[in-house]
Amino acid sequence: MIYLDNAATTALSESARNAMEPYFSTQYGNPSSIYRFGQEARKAVEESRQSIAALLRVSPREIYFTGGGTESDNWALSSVVLERALKKEKSVHLITSTIEHPAVLRTCAFFESLGVKVSRIPVDQRGFLDLEALERALQEESSLQEESSLREREEHSFPSKSGEEAKKGASHCLVSVMAANNEIGTIENLKEIGHLAKKYGAVFHTDAVQAFGQIPLDIEEMQIDLLSASSHKIHGPKGVGLLYIRKGLKLSSFLHGGAQERGLRAGTENVPGIVGFSAAAKEAFSSMEERGRKKAALRNLFFKRLMEEIPGVKISGVNPLKDEGIGALPESPFFSSLHHRLPGNVHICLPGVEGESVLLLLDQKGICASSGSACASGSLEPSHVLLAIGKSHEEAYSGLRLSLEETLTEEELEYTVEAIREAVEKLRG
Ligand code: PLP
Repeated sequence: MIYLDNAATTALSESARNAMEPYFSTQYGNPSSIYRFGQEARKAVEESRQSIAALLRVSPREIYFTGGGTESDNWALSSVVLERALKKEKSVHLITSTIEHPAVLRTCAFFESLGVKVSRIPVDQRGFLDLEALERALQEESSLQEESSLREREEHSFPSKSGEEAKKGASHCLVSVMAANNEIGTIENLKEIGHLAKKYGAVFHTDAVQAFGQIPLDIEEMQIDLLSASSHKIHGPKGVGLLYIRKGLKLSSFLHGGAQERGLRAGTENVPGIVGFSAAAKEAFSSMEERGRKKAALRNLFFKRLMEEIPGVKISGVNPLKDEGIGALPESPFFSSLHHRLPGNVHICLPGVEGESVLLLLDQKGICASSGSACASGSLEPSHVLLAIGKSHEEAYSGLRLSLEETLTEEELEYTVEAIREAVEKLRG
């Protein structure tokens, strides 16, 4: 089998498996129990928290373990909505992008159905967020607040607000923009997005499920308040993730019950999962650059060979083979070598064929990949990400995503290119 779907999930690493094993067998205590046996499990959870916090250069008190990326996204969005709703001062405004994962987009749609204001900021053809549109949305919201508070102040003869106070008029807004896209691999300019969110006083959440452990993330520099990550994308176990919550940000509890996770996320901790997540994260961070460089080189070779072999093939998102003059993001040679695209992400459109049909033919040859189309109520929906970057419906159905690991050999890569070439030829008839 040639596994090229690492953005969907990854194999559990040996070190994560070894680290977890005792917590399935001999060390099965409940971390909330006060006897020593339980406290050993507590120690394992807290050491994992410290270790992950150190990797992100934050305090362990800012790391909350969850049941995965989806839960972290739901928690981030819903508790900001609830917290603001409880204050009854201002209505909440969720500002997100058109290319988020369904864990964010559907959560936004749910709150929208309850009357919450939601704005979806467009992206360009490569998947980069329109920063001017984001600023306009924040500015507009800020002016609306300014007007209403001015009216209030006039009615009550209060002095008017200072310029600095007025600038922060979007404190009821939550900006949620992903760090890197799961389909086309575009790495967003979080530094700029964080800067804009802060300029207007908004809370800034990022879904970093695809970025955590793959690319450098600087929570301080990017001014991130909330960050979601997931273990199974980095060779850790499934069903465990984290939400980073900046100290001082008040969020309501997500799961109600026991006092676990500082009373915000009740439920007995997934001790083996947390320990495995921490082991996988340690490995991912320590080898990030080396793996990233290898993967980016394979990714570029993949694109080059696909362009050579398959007539009409189109690279979706950023073309790493061309210097498109995108300004540098965080200054580091490793980061710029990625060309703003996740190192292991290859996404193409194959005009004239359906991605799903290619997948089935690749499966017959032992190759696992993904098309990005989603199954919704029995019918196949074209990828919302491809539509958002301006592809037609037909093109959006023709997508194929290959997400690779550095262990892929050039022989496997050539075998895959040949299999795609054959599949396309067969389907085009
Ligand atoms: N967000 C992004 C960008 C993802 O790619 C995924 C999973 O594919 C998720 C959220 C959901 O994470 P999990 O599978 O841990 O719930």
